[in-house]
Amino acid sequence: MPESHALLGASNSKQWINCPPSARLQQQFPNESSVYAEEGTFAHSVCEYKVRKYLHERVKRPQSEAYDSEEIEQITDVYAEFVIETIERMKRNGCEPLTLVEERVDYSHLVPSGFGTADMIVIGQDENGKGILHIADFKTGKGVFVDAAYNSQLMLYALGALHAYGYIYPIDTVWMTIVQPRLDNISTYVCTREELEEWGESIRPIAQLAYEGKGEQKCGDWCRFCRAKPVCRACAEEALALAKEEFLDLDDGVLAPIRASPEKQHTQEEGTAPTELAEPTFKQPGLVPFHELEEILPTLNRISAWIESVFAYVSGEAINNGVPVKGYKVVEGRSKRVFTDLKAVVDTAMQNGYTDLYKKELISLTEFEKLMGKKRFAELLGPYVQKPPGKLTLVPDSDPRPPVERTDSPEQEFTALTAQEEE
Ligand code: SF4
Repeated sequence: MPESHALLGASNSKQWINCPPSARLQQQFPNESSVYAEEGTFAHSVCEYKVRKYLHERVKRPQSEAYDSEEIEQITDVYAEFVIETIERMKRNGCEPLTLVEERVDYSHLVPSGFGTADMIVIGQDENGKGILHIADFKTGKGVFVDAAYNSQLMLYALGALHAYGYIYPIDTVWMTIVQPRLDNISTYVCTREELEEWGESIRPIAQLAYEGKGEQKCGDWCRFCRAKPVCRACAEEALALAKEEFLDLDDGVLAPIRASPEKQHTQEEGTAPTELAEPTFKQPGLVPFHELEEILPTLNRISAWIESVFAYVSGEAINNGVPVKGYKVVEGRSKRVFTDLKAVVDTAMQNGYTDLYKKELISLTEFEKLMGKKRFAELLGPYVQKPPGKLTLVPDSDPRPPVERTDSPEQEFTALTAQEEE
């Protein structure tokens, strides 16, 4: 969950650790809450409710007309079950663990004014009686797989918890888990207390740079949520450098567009803006080999996100603030017809003899599970439940999901195609 108040928050730590000046640069832009962020906030409150209920605290279930759904119920169940199992396991190891839910942690001994809110902190012991600090963070996103290994957000929470409780409780190892149910991801990273503390010391000077708005501006996958992205010069330069190097013969110093052909330059009236972009001049005509595309793929991913953010920013300025954009105008998009008064629609249709107005639908799998209870559902309907394989997606090697074993080799595909063609 994003911490809206800390300049050097844990949730955006990957960003400021890799690009220290970004923390101050993005302060110039409003931190607008997205629908996803609001849904995430609600889901977190449901997680909190479920864990506190298990801990026998008096709590009221949060409500939301917009976001309360079966899916939220499912994903928060996954998180709550993980937390409960963690606590129960420690109890089986012979201790009564300390459990803290939605706990504010302070790591300002390493990062200026640094604090955050940890979803779960459990302090107890393993089966050998060694002290464990376990931190868990719930993620609702499904766009990017979040790995627990060397996850700076978790490590900062852990450092904060260690700072607050490490002198009371004997802690030998630190467990850090990401629970990201929408991607079937529960990933845990374990390190020793010393390793964690060493990492904390290593980021101390970087945090100081970030706090002062200094350091090198550097693009990477951490740019994803940076609010300065649409106007970030490092991103613009990276995109144009790649285009220039790989594909196009661009003018130097261009943010200027693709050069106009001599013919078009000649016919263009002086002092008027070009009405259309000229044809690009390709460095090497022909086709780009696959291996070259492979090499630039990670950068292209990032550039495409940057381009989207530029369009969103410029469009927002034009649409919301009336800022004129040269060569563009604001128009109304297409819209669909809607009924203004549903009751009147039904009454009028009925009065005129149209009665078949409603559809009936079978309740969903989760609703069946709620109706019958998990055990009865498994007994009665379990045999009819199947989890089909997910849609194939190309992801970077860093994604911890195992690769799909393909049975069709290119040769086989070729054979199949050839056979088909010959039929
Ligand atoms: S968008 Fe720019 S300022 Fe923000 S993290 Fe990336 S490189 Fe740094």
